[in-house]
Amino acid sequence: MSSTLIKNGTLVTASDAFKANLLIADGRIAAITRETPAAQRVIDAAGKFVLPGGIDVHTHLNTLGGPEMFTADDFYTGHRAAAFGGTTCHIQFADQFRGQSMRESYAWWRDISRDKAVIDYGFHLMIIDPTEGVLGEIAKFREWGVNTIKVMMAYKGRVMLNDDAIFKVMRLAKQHGCMVLTHCENGEAIDVLQHAAAAAGHTAPIHHALTRPPELEAEATERAIQLAQAAGGAPLFVVHCSHTGALQAVVRARARGEAVWAETCTQYLFFTKDKLRGKKGNAFEGAKYVCSPPLRESDDMAALWQGLASGDVHSVSTDHCPWRFDVHKSRGRDNFMNIPNGVPGIEERLMMLWDAGVNSGLLSPSKFVELTSTAPAQLFGLRNKGALAIGHDADVVVWDPAKKHTIRAARLHGNMDYSLFEGMAVTGKPSQVFSRGDLLVDGDEWLGAPGRGQFVMRGDAAQ
Ligand SMILES: [Zn+2]
Repeated sequence: MSSTLIKNGTLVTASDAFKANLLIADGRIAAITRETPAAQRVIDAAGKFVLPGGIDVHTHLNTLGGPEMFTADDFYTGHRAAAFGGTTCHIQFADQFRGQSMRESYAWWRDISRDKAVIDYGFHLMIIDPTEGVLGEIAKFREWGVNTIKVMMAYKGRVMLNDDAIFKVMRLAKQHGCMVLTHCENGEAIDVLQHAAAAAGHTAPIHHALTRPPELEAEATERAIQLAQAAGGAPLFVVHCSHTGALQAVVRARARGEAVWAETCTQYLFFTKDKLRGKKGNAFEGAKYVCSPPLRESDDMAALWQGLASGDVHSVSTDHCPWRFDVHKSRGRDNFMNIPNGVPGIEERLMMLWDAGVNSGLLSPSKFVELTSTAPAQLFGLRNKGALAIGHDADVVVWDPAKKHTIRAARLHGNMDYSLFEGMAVTGKPSQVFSRGDLLVDGDEWLGAPGRGQFVMRGDAAQ
């Protein structure tokens, strides 16, 4: 039996903000009250906000990206970084291994994460080898606690699925109560542009962006939407939407009443593709900003921010895919096509979004909670998370809105050697972070233990 009272804070939900005391008992939220019930531990949150823990539904921990090359964060260092940033749950892309069944791949991911996990997590199952046998396994996913399937429309010759396979997955997803997540870029056309770039001797990181123009994201997004409809109305979640045209396709589909949602990621809200040009005299610094889809233009950033405020964008995730600059990104020093795609951000997400979104007045604290916790929980069937509600898991963040600090990679808690946000001054930071009632982060102190995090069996995804 353990209990904690968080008193004098302002509780923030997706719809409201109000002063109350919050009692945690046995890992759950036990009371929200004006009274002061007795508790073993008392935290004074005067002047602070009390938020449901952040949920990041797009991560790539411990992920194979090439021969003998795994992303830099495993389920321990990734979870430690997440927790310091106020994130207490995430959904990981559990990639299929070519030649293995989905059951074998799922079992590998369960095994690799079990003893390291500190926060709670779920899986999106990514199909890359869509044999008839593999497609037949979709009927089992819900029994495994999974309600989401990822398909790639990009990366031809590696993990891209053709339209016939994508369409089959969508039909089966609809039949078996799963949502489909799509990486929307036209891999065929990108392949043509990359061959042309290679022939022209273009090797610098900026050519990553130049060979993935925004029209190819808009086209793939529209195609995914239409395929999902033709598949009987399969629920569709468009991951990492980076471009106005792609977002508009989602907005049009939703206006027609279709079950389509859009995510964006922190990096698309802060940077344009100019970052890929690197620094004066050091073009390769641009490799730090290589992700797919690529960073876009300032107009797109403005449209995404507006989409967050208006409700057209439903979730802000990270696509945390931590390739170190020293040993991973450097593989592409002679050719941008060898730069591993992906950027880090699991720790910085909430601090950056709070500073630029809430402190600027564009987003209310409630909208912030909706985008980073409540909507992700509801979309993906995390039944006991994403809200400050009696009986819910006590995944709770005490948030100090006055705390000023500067983002420095050296002070972050993952295994990365750079941050996209290096040197940026922000206001607002977690003071305490609880997962199911356990205090994981207390100021600068780390109290999390590997193996305590649990795999979450998810309920129904949004339909
Ligand atoms: Zn991703």
